[in-house]
Amino acid sequence: MENYNERIDKIIASTGIMSRKEVKKAAKERRILLNGNVVKDCGVKAKGSDTLTLDGEIIKYKEFTYIMLNKPKGYVCSTDDPSSPIVNELLSPKLQRLELFSIGRLDKNTTGLVILTNDGALAHQLLSPAKHVSKTYIFETKLPLKEEYITSFKNGIILEDGTKCRPAILDILGENSGKVTIHEGKFHQIKRMFEAVGNKIVSLERLSIGTVTLDKALNYADFRDLTKEEISALKG
Ligand code: URA
Repeated sequence: MENYNERIDKIIASTGIMSRKEVKKAAKERRILLNGNVVKDCGVKAKGSDTLTLDGEIIKYKEFTYIMLNKPKGYVCSTDDPSSPIVNELLSPKLQRLELFSIGRLDKNTTGLVILTNDGALAHQLLSPAKHVSKTYIFETKLPLKEEYITSFKNGIILEDGTKCRPAILDILGENSGKVTIHEGKFHQIKRMFEAVGNKIVSLERLSIGTVTLDKALNYADFRDLTKEEISALKG
C-alpha cells in the first residue's frame, strides 16, 4: 500500500516493530527521520512517497496483516479461556504487538489452518452467515463411517438442540477417516454433526477456508504471511 498519508506513529506501529508509545520515545531520542529531517512530532503525517526511517531502516505503512498458522493442539483462538495458551503466543513478538485475531475459531484440540488478521472488515465478511464461506476438515472417528452419513450430511444434519445445518459434503477416505466441507461455523459444529449420527470425532484438522489452503510446508506452530493472491481470493 504505497498510496497513503498517515501519522508517523501509526505508520511505525503498523509494522509491529514498536508500540505507538515507544515511537514517541524513539522520536525524543531523534531516531526517526522524515526525508532526512529529525521527527519531533509523531502526529505529523507521512506519505508513501516520503522516506521515513527508524534507526536508519526504511519504514512503510502496512495497513493490514494476514497470517496463515498451522495450529497445534492445546492452543485456543480467543482470550475467552484464560487457562489455555492462545494461538497469538506462537507468533513473533512483532506480530504479537499487532493484536491480530483469528477469523473463526478452532477448538483447543483441533489442528490446522487458522488465519489471523487485524482486518476487521474482512473477518466480518468471511464470518457472515450470508457469505457461506466453505471450510474443509479432515477427521478421524471413533466408530467406522457409514455410507448413509453422506446423504445425511448432504440433506443437512439436525443437531442435538434441533438446529438444522446447511448441506455439507462428506467424503469417506478410510474406515474411520474422511474429509468434510461445511459452509457455516456453528459452535463445535463438526463434532456435533458426528454426534448427531451416533459417532464421535477423535481428531480434527482444518485444511482450508474458502480458497485458502493450509500450506503443507508449515509444521505445527509454523506461520507465514498470506500471499497477495491468497488475500485477494479471500476478499473475493
Ligand atoms: N468443528 C468443530 O467441532 N471443532 C472445530 O474446531 C471446528 C469445527
